[in-house]
Amino acid sequence: MIQLKTLEELYLMRESAQLVSKTLGMLAPEIKPGVTTKYLDKLAHDYIKDHGAEPAFLGYGGFPNALCMSPNDQVVHGFPNDTPLEDGDIISIDCGTYKNGFVGDHAYTFEVGDVAPEIKKLLKITKESLYKGIEQCVRGKRVGDISHAIQSYCEKEGYGVVRELVGHGVGRVMHEDPQVPNYGRQGSGKVLKDGICLAIEPMINLGTEKVKFHNDGWTVTTLDNKASAHFEHDVTIINGKPVLLSTYQYIYDALGIKSNEEEAFQYNW
Ligand code: MG
Ligand code: MG
Repeated sequence: MIQLKTLEELYLMRESAQLVSKTLGMLAPEIKPGVTTKYLDKLAHDYIKDHGAEPAFLGYGGFPNALCMSPNDQVVHGFPNDTPLEDGDIISIDCGTYKNGFVGDHAYTFEVGDVAPEIKKLLKITKESLYKGIEQCVRGKRVGDISHAIQSYCEKEGYGVVRELVGHGVGRVMHEDPQVPNYGRQGSGKVLKDGICLAIEPMINLGTEKVKFHNDGWTVTTLDNKASAHFEHDVTIINGKPVLLSTYQYIYDALGIKSNEEEAFQYNW
């Protein structure tokens, strides 16, 4: 059942989501060749704790770390480790916090040093597809409208849209109803209402949509070992319109990136 949130609950959800945003912003300048994902995980873990919250992924289903760190051909759910990042890598960082009784859950794929143009384009299109999905978060539309917007935007570039992993409702627990696939039919699925909270998260592959689940129970890679990108925002609907609970602005401030991509999805809290 979909748990619709009151404005008071949304305010608290936003605090948790914004702590994830700040954590990703704190990490952004640290992400460079030679740094290990284990080091970044420790930074994030301590930062979240210092801000009066808990890392929501740590211990979730037995996951051993604060962050999911998925480089290059890893789609999601990678473990932080001692392998240094290399120039030209990409690293998808998914972060969760538990604060005020609510979960924040969002993700960004970072470039490490100098990244090849075709990979840069994959990141750009994947992030743009996330906003195409968010545009569909309008009262009266359906989950399938979000799914279709993401799928059609990515498939016209020839990218593979992962089928086995999907976005989700988010709230007092990490995974609530409904599921939000990155593929689907317009006008299908649950109706979107004010107060719904969704973690929308396109996972898009440079090559095949097919993925491989590893024996460690977590790591997912592309079947052809080509790159995969992952961007995730927490989104709600207020007064019928999409509103972002999370933000990439802390990342952009840290990296000197100018963007107005979030402008249309603000609410005067
Ligand atoms: Mg996530
Ligand atoms: Mg998620």
